[in-house]
Amino acid sequence: MSLETLNLQSPVLSPGSLFDANEFDHYVMKTYGRFPIALVKGSGCRVTDNYGKEYLDFVAGIATTTLGHAHPNLIKTVTEQIQKLHHVSNLYYIPEQGELARWIVEHSCADKVFFCNSGAEANEAAIKLVRKYAHEKLDLDNPVILTAKSSFHGRTLATITATGQPKYQKGFSPLVPGFAYVPYNDIGAIENAITDIDEGNTRVAGIMLEALQGEGGVRPGELEYFLRLRKICDETGILLIFDEVQVGVGRTGKYWGYENLGIEPDIFTSAKGLAGGIPIGAMMCKDFCNVFEPGSHASTFGGNPFACAVALTVLQTIERENILQNVQQRGEQLRTRLRAIAMKYPQLCKEVRGWGLINGLELHSDSKITSIDVVKAAMTEGLLLAPAGPKVLRFVPPLIVTAEEVEEAAIKLERAIVATL
Ligand SMILES: *Cc1c(COP(=O)(O)O)cnc(C)c1O
Repeated sequence: MSLETLNLQSPVLSPGSLFDANEFDHYVMKTYGRFPIALVKGSGCRVTDNYGKEYLDFVAGIATTTLGHAHPNLIKTVTEQIQKLHHVSNLYYIPEQGELARWIVEHSCADKVFFCNSGAEANEAAIKLVRKYAHEKLDLDNPVILTAKSSFHGRTLATITATGQPKYQKGFSPLVPGFAYVPYNDIGAIENAITDIDEGNTRVAGIMLEALQGEGGVRPGELEYFLRLRKICDETGILLIFDEVQVGVGRTGKYWGYENLGIEPDIFTSAKGLAGGIPIGAMMCKDFCNVFEPGSHASTFGGNPFACAVALTVLQTIERENILQNVQQRGEQLRTRLRAIAMKYPQLCKEVRGWGLINGLELHSDSKITSIDVVKAAMTEGLLLAPAGPKVLRFVPPLIVTAEEVEEAAIKLERAIVATL
């Protein structure tokens, strides 16, 4: 059972409130299968529902609330910036946008940044950049972008097409032309696709991948695969694009996911955790492939002073408070605890994998118990987890999570597993 198809009872969202879940669904399009709780406040790694029940938040808005809830630095920046200036058009120079771009350029392989508002939009920008580059620099009329099976790149038409999972594309044809799919971590498949897709003006112009597949089940990229991929791109002139929407901004214990693989992409994207939960997206590229010019691409909200000031605060907080070290240490601690639990319940648990604070616990495919079953049991124990597909539990707490909180999560997870067996 997937999150999308989960059919829930109608819980009262708030005692004495106007809304129960039925009324909510009467007004809001039912595009989500929602768990039957309503979270109303949070602090650090903890959130509280409308009944006052507290949860340890190992979802973090799906790898988004980087600094947790109600972080004092966020409160300060949000308050100061809304009083100063929150939105102006990109018709004008925006100092906060420039400062944020400088931070990103000085702390990554990128030379230039474009700002938008979400992960899908950042990937759209990357797709457009690859196509424009292909037309102008490679003289290609029909550029093709390779993506991986089990990938996730967003929900716009181009990004569901880029997403190598038919379930997200179902019902939305005709899809966007110019995409082809290869199995992840399989270099032979890339080589074959490049050879097969080469006819006249149709050729592979870009390869877009996640450094670690998030939605696809927390699957880390393999070093050897990415080293050879980089070499192929260097030899052929194909652009290498990393979708860092989920793994960027310190999530893996390094600023960017690609740093775990010893290579640099030509283009990469960021969103989720970049402003710690305030909407923002960004597309970064090296100068040689920056073919955008005035009029090529735009976004009304993209790069507004508010979102940019908050993102800069998130990044500076990670840097000044040495949060990457916490991510590495808490990640090790969490994987050690998860492996111990997996060994204790081998009938259910298959494998633990991940980098930094993006980790997955895979359940055996032949077990009747799904990730949703364990997520629900964990919720009862006061621990929020997100599934990454039907058989993988995902652990993506705020990057400020403490050793005590990791230990508490492990204890709650074990209780939840026992309850499902
Ligand atoms: C979440 C996600 C997206 C989509 O981001 P939105 O902000 O929801 O549009 C794209 N790519 C990856 C890897 C993601 O995890």
